[in-house]
Amino acid sequence: MTTVAFIGLGHMGSGMAVNLVRAGHTVRAFDLDESAVAEAQGAGAIRTLSVAEACEGAGAVITMLPAAAHVRQVHDIARRAAPASALLIDCSTIDVGAAREVAQAAQDAGLAMLDAPVSGGVAAAKAGALTFMCGGTVQAFARGEPLLSAMGKAVIHAGASGAGQAAKICNNLLLGISMIGTCEAFGLAEKLGLEAQVFFDIASKASGRNWALTDYCPVPGPLPSSPANRDYQAGFTAALMLKDLNLAVGAAEDNGAHTPLGTLARAMYEALCADGFAARDFSVMMPYLRDHG
Ligand code: NAD
Repeated sequence: MTTVAFIGLGHMGSGMAVNLVRAGHTVRAFDLDESAVAEAQGAGAIRTLSVAEACEGAGAVITMLPAAAHVRQVHDIARRAAPASALLIDCSTIDVGAAREVAQAAQDAGLAMLDAPVSGGVAAAKAGALTFMCGGTVQAFARGEPLLSAMGKAVIHAGASGAGQAAKICNNLLLGISMIGTCEAFGLAEKLGLEAQVFFDIASKASGRNWALTDYCPVPGPLPSSPANRDYQAGFTAALMLKDLNLAVGAAEDNGAHTPLGTLARAMYEALCADGFAARDFSVMMPYLRDHG
């Protein structure tokens, strides 16, 4: 069993840290939000008062933070406070360049590092059913894999440092585009007089089948578990989808990839967020298109 410093106990990190405790690991928890730390303590984690204190004696340091600036800041401290034998694992979604930069800084300080962003929302984090996409050396992956398995249903080595983040933003580029396409198809079906349930039954067994349709259906009814049945409470917020599309389109621009649909999807999520839907689930694109078409 490993002593794990867990930094960032927000929507995702809180459930992840509890799953590490359940798996028998010693979790040293820290977040700027004291109530989040208290909640983790209630679930069996050790309460700490700073990043440095959390890292004391840790075999691994896991970060689950909002964006690259937070990761840089926390890692600046963790590199000095954690034992030289510690493995740093960043599960936040950040840009590939920043992920490579913090990995290089870790290596320069003699520490191993994995970028390990996740697919799956808050429910998957609580259920220990995340998919981890990992970037780093084979040795770092072999060390991190057992810990990540305690929080996920799939742990995949994507390649060298930054490859996990590359996989994550490519996946979410596809997800953002396919969600909008699915919403458009339901909108057209409605105008043509097709029941949503009928279209769902057909498309989920035909060539239009995709995850946004079958596992996250954006219209209420066909799939009781989808946020559409809870007035589009997140789930995965439209703001986070916009964040990921910004990362994907930015990476495309920086690396000469042509992503016209990604650029359009980003503009559509920008408009959705600007119109007050940032905190709703990203499938709220369905009623938004209906009302703003
Ligand atoms: P969140 O804002 O709920 O949680 C982030 C936590 O980090 C907060 O509790 C905050 O107080 C803490 N924090 C910020 N700066 C800190 C610092 N310097 N020291 C200690 N704690 C600090 O965010 P979230 O929804 O849990 O997402 C975390 C990451 O996971 C993001 O990068 C996001 O893109 C990614 N992600 C989120 C989801 C989702 O559905 N929410 C799904 C997949 C990936």
